[in-house]
Amino acid sequence: MRIKISGLENGTYEYDFEADIDKIDLTEPLFGKYSTNVVLNKFDDQIILEASTAVGANFICDRCGIEFKETVKSKYKMIYLLRSIEGAEEEINIIYLSPDTPIIDISKEVRDYMILSIPMKRLCKEDCKGLCVKCGTDLNKKQCDHNDDKVDDRWKVLVELKNKLNIN
Ligand SMILES: [Zn+2]
Ligand SMILES: [Zn+2]
Repeated sequence: MRIKISGLENGTYEYDFEADIDKIDLTEPLFGKYSTNVVLNKFDDQIILEASTAVGANFICDRCGIEFKETVKSKYKMIYLLRSIEGAEEEINIIYLSPDTPIIDISKEVRDYMILSIPMKRLCKEDCKGLCVKCGTDLNKKQCDHNDDKVDDRWKVLVELKNKLNIN
């Protein structure tokens, strides 16, 4: 994802990139192509770049175990300074460029921010009811005869352990 900046006049520019995710070293659970939209604002001494990326992902629901697809989105903003400014080095999203830099490559940032955007908790839907601990029925699909106050003693230990470990 290379953007030519040499000779670029001040102003706002937009770019779209699309390619297979392995081109930017992304792998499972992501799949297919990434699409990245870049809005670039060029000024005399800095470039402000905002990149939004979307990639499809295959997840397994933490509660009911079904596979589902979701689009993971990530966004970041980067400032490229074409001269050094006192104090600016404390900011994370600032990169210094020599004023004659011909091209900027945003592949690494797009990749890093996408990885940070992959959710830790994966639910097929916010209110997924999960599986019955006793008979394994998918409670999203149908009810079974078991509910918490009827759980017998053999299972109670497991249910308590499960709650303690917070595996839902
Ligand atoms: Zn689920
Ligand atoms: Zn049941």
